[in-house]
Amino acid sequence: MNAHEVIVVGGGPVGLTHALGLARAGVEVTVLEANTEVGTTPGDLVYHWNVLPWLDRLGILDDLLSAGNTEPHQFYRVGSTGETLAFDLGVLADESPFPFNLHVRQAEVTRILLEHLGEFREVTILLSSLLTDLVQDDAGVTVTFDGPAGEVTLRAGWVVGADGSRSAVRRRLGLSFSGMTWPERLISVEIDADLEVLGMYGAGYVIDPRFGAILACVDPGSRWRYIYAEDRAAPEDTIADRLPGVLSKALSPEVADARFTWSAYRIHQRAAAAFRVGRIMLIGDAAHLTNPASGHGMSGGLFDSFALSEVLAAVVSGKSDDSLLDRWAEERRRNFVEYSSPTSSERKKFVYNLEDDSAVEQEFAPMRRIAADPDRMREWFALARSLEPPRLT
Ligand SMILES: Cc1cc2nc3c(=O)[nH]c(=O)nc-3n(C[C@H](O)[C@H](O)[C@H](O)COP(=O)(O)OP(=O)(O)OC[C@H]3O[C@@H](n4cnc5c(N)ncnc54)[C@H](O)[C@@H]3O)c2cc1C
Repeated sequence: MNAHEVIVVGGGPVGLTHALGLARAGVEVTVLEANTEVGTTPGDLVYHWNVLPWLDRLGILDDLLSAGNTEPHQFYRVGSTGETLAFDLGVLADESPFPFNLHVRQAEVTRILLEHLGEFREVTILLSSLLTDLVQDDAGVTVTFDGPAGEVTLRAGWVVGADGSRSAVRRRLGLSFSGMTWPERLISVEIDADLEVLGMYGAGYVIDPRFGAILACVDPGSRWRYIYAEDRAAPEDTIADRLPGVLSKALSPEVADARFTWSAYRIHQRAAAAFRVGRIMLIGDAAHLTNPASGHGMSGGLFDSFALSEVLAAVVSGKSDDSLLDRWAEERRRNFVEYSSPTSSERKKFVYNLEDDSAVEQEFAPMRRIAADPDRMREWFALARSLEPPRLT
């Protein structure tokens, strides 16, 4: 007899969302989180329009909308000329009740997820609980973790590894995480400035061989996020010295004088060799890593989690046999390897790796045609649907 139906390892955005999906489906779930708090990663900000109906079904969208900003606007700008194309998600109004992206900070998302998780007796969240081992047999999984009172061993029917890029679950399964690491580091800067005065709205891209960047509004009128790339060979301890010069040249001298904070990180394209091994599944960054140019990191993880909670609930309740889990695992891995990772790599090259102005012009010309035609713009935005899982239950 397994004391726990499902243990989710990792209380990041993907693990907590998954736990809520399982709890809503009536599954008893225990979350193990290594840190003293859950969901402390700063990364996530933009929730794409096609993720919002799924968050609505989870019952948390209204609270998220109150905590964040809805952003229908996107832009594409040529760095050298300042030419800016305006894209508007409003063209999706006939096909989506949510024709906008939602910008909301991870701390707010975590707060809302915890509030909703607190409504379910089926949910237990164990903080300061670092998974150290797991062993499975035909009947269940034995999970060992270091908790506040020392080493603890639990038995669960199923385990979901949502423990991020360095996933202990993936390592304990001995799964390879093959792929590549890009030669650049990305530097994510939060600037106390209003970039709308520079003609930037919502979120967008500056296309430029030297100063390519991804931008997103954090707090309208007062704070933006600016993510640029530099060669990892450049010394990391002098980033702060270089940053004002980059902001001055790429945005404006006034912006360079604003207060800012920053963090630097490596970027990868990697997938675990399998997303399911017996009674153990991987979701989110534990299963796959991508550069953030298409915003697929968290969205891809959330789609893993939404689909898995439906499938796992059906298996736990005995409504489906466990072959459905194989279909889920194959589908999500195929989606990452064949769609999400190559699309994100192309987008990264478009933003950060064009060689000169003529390459910029070549890439920008089709964007002008899309910006001028609402039908083309609708098709362009609809491409994001390729990240979604098919109905499996
Ligand atoms: C600057 C930046 C901007 C980004 N912007 C976007 C964006 O706009 N849109 C988007 O879709 N994606 C974005 N991403 C990507 C996104 O942040 C990640 O894909 C997402 O955070 C992954 O969530 P996760 O829950 O899978 O993993 P994580 O957030 O890494 O959470 C894993 C959790 O597991 C815990 N854990 C780890 N090991 C153990 C263990 N042994 N035992 C117990 N617990 C453990 C960790 O403490 C952590 O809480 C961005 C990333 C960065 C860095």
